[in-house]
Amino acid sequence: MEEKKRKKRKRRLTPEEAERRRAARAARELRQADRENQQITGEVRQSVRGSQGEVPDEQREAEERRIKNKERSVRRARKEKHQQILIRALGLVAVLMVLTVIIFFVVNDHVHDRQEQEAYKAQKEAEIAAEEAALAARRASIAEAEKLAVIYDYDGAIALLQSQENYDTDNDLINAIAQYTAEKSALEAKDVTTVPHIFYHSLIVDPARAFDSSKWAADEIAGINAWMTTVEEFDKITQQMYDNGWVLIRMRDLVVETKNEDGTVTFSQNKNLLLPADKHPFVLSIDDWSYYHSYDGKGYGDKAVVDENGKVKIQYTDADGNVSVGDYDVLPRLNTFLEAHPDGAYKGARGMAAMTGYNGVFGYRTDVAYKTGERLGKDQAAWLEAHPDFDWDKEVAEATKVAEAAKASGWEFACHTWGHLSVTGKSVDTLSTDQQKWQNTVANITGKTDTIIFAHGNDIGTWRDYDASTNDVYAYFKSMGYNFYANVDASNQYWVQIRKDYVRQGRIDCDGLQMWRAKAGEAKTNVFEEFFDVNDVFDSRRPTPVSATGKA
Ligand SMILES: [Zn+2]
Repeated sequence: MEEKKRKKRKRRLTPEEAERRRAARAARELRQADRENQQITGEVRQSVRGSQGEVPDEQREAEERRIKNKERSVRRARKEKHQQILIRALGLVAVLMVLTVIIFFVVNDHVHDRQEQEAYKAQKEAEIAAEEAALAARRASIAEAEKLAVIYDYDGAIALLQSQENYDTDNDLINAIAQYTAEKSALEAKDVTTVPHIFYHSLIVDPARAFDSSKWAADEIAGINAWMTTVEEFDKITQQMYDNGWVLIRMRDLVVETKNEDGTVTFSQNKNLLLPADKHPFVLSIDDWSYYHSYDGKGYGDKAVVDENGKVKIQYTDADGNVSVGDYDVLPRLNTFLEAHPDGAYKGARGMAAMTGYNGVFGYRTDVAYKTGERLGKDQAAWLEAHPDFDWDKEVAEATKVAEAAKASGWEFACHTWGHLSVTGKSVDTLSTDQQKWQNTVANITGKTDTIIFAHGNDIGTWRDYDASTNDVYAYFKSMGYNFYANVDASNQYWVQIRKDYVRQGRIDCDGLQMWRAKAGEAKTNVFEEFFDVNDVFDSRRPTPVSATGKA
C-alpha cells in the first residue's frame, strides 16, 4: 500500500519536477562519493605512515602503487560524477530554456491572436457601419426622390437616384427609377395658353366684425362684401380645387425664358409643362397684402410675422382684444395646405403677392412718410400718434424678414403700383413717379421683380398685343424690367397672352362679388364651375345681394 502510494505520488510529478529530483539525487550522490573518497585517502595515508620503516621496500612500493591507483580511480570516478552532474545540469538548463522559449511563443501567439481578433472585429464593425451609412443614404435619396416625384419633378427624382452609388445594381434604386420613368412617360404636356389665374385679397377672419352695420358705413360693408373672401370660403375653395385636380404653378412656368446676348429676354410657350392627365395647372396671386389702416377693426389680420420655425404667420387681434398668431391669411393658409398636400403644387410653386407701398407692407408702416412725417394721410397721422414708440428702421427690418421668409417658402412678389394707381390714362410721368416710390419703399424690402399686377383690374392696353412702338406706357414698364403683366378678367376661365417680349394673363377674383354673380346666375357663365361649387363655398354670413357699388 505505502509503495503504491509513493508510486502514485511519483507518477504525478511533472517533467520539470522529476528533472529537479534527478539533479538533487545526483548532487547527493556526488557529496556521498566525495565523503567516501576523503575517507579512503585518509586510510591510505595513515597506513603508509604506519608502515614506514617496518615493511620492505618492494612491499611498500606495491602498497604505494596500489594506493596511487586507488586515488586515480577515485579521481576518475569523481571526475565522471562531475561530468554526469554537469551534463544533467546542462540538460536541465536546456529543458528550461526550451520551455521558456515555448512559453514565450505560446504567450506571444496568444497576445498576437487577440490583437488580430480585435483588429478583425474593428474592421468588421467599420464595414457594418459603412454599409448602414450607405443604406441610410440610399433610403434618404429614395425618400427625397419620392418628394420630388410627388411635386411632378420626375427628372429631378430620377437624376437624384442615378447620382447614387450602385444605382444600376441596387434593386430599390432600380425599381424606383423604373417607377418614376414609367410615371413620367404617362404625363402630358399642358396647354399653357389655357391656364387660369385666380386671386384673393386679405381674408376676413371674423365676418361678424367685417359686416357689422352698427360700426361701418353701408358702402364700406358693400366694398368688403364685394372684394373680400372669408377664411371659410378660402378653405373650401382650396380643398375643392385640389380635389378637382387643380395644381398650382408659377406664372413663369407658362413660358421658357431665353436670355439674349444684349441682356434682354425673349419668351416662348412652355411645351414641357408636364402633369398627369387628370391634373390642371392654375396660377394664384394675392393683392394688397398690406393690412391698410382702413382694415383696422374689421376682422382681418394685423400684420405678418415670422415664427420660430421661420414660417410666415399672421398676427390677429380678435374682437375681445386677444392677440394670437396663426394662418389668418392666404399666404400661410395656402402654405400649410400645400405642406399637407404637396402634389397640389408643381415643383413647389406658390403664389405671387402684389404689393403697394403707401401704407407700408405686410402691416408694417414702412413707407417713407411714416419716417419723415411729411404728407401723412389722416389715418397715418392717427396711427403714428397711437404708436409713440414707432421705429421706422425696425419696421423695415421686420418687414424684410417677412419678405425673405415668404420667398424662402416659394412665394414671389409683384408690383401693384405704390399708390394703388389706376394705370388707365395715366402719363408715363405720373407712372414713373409712382414707380420710383415703389422701388424705394417696397423693392428695398421685397427685392426687385419682373412682374406687375395692375391695381383696380386695369391694364395699360386693350386685349390686343402690347406694342412698345405705339404704347409709351408699356415701353416705360418694359424699360423698368417688367416682363409679366396681369389684369382682371372674370369673364373667362382663362386669358393668356404669351409674346416674344412679355407674358400677360387675365385674373379671376375669387371674391364675394364673383361668387354671388355665379351663384345668382348674374354672370353669363359660371367661371368657377370647373374649380369649385359656388353654392357650397359662398359664406352664408355675407349680406346679400352682393353688388359692385362698394369701394375697394
Ligand atoms: Zn389692389
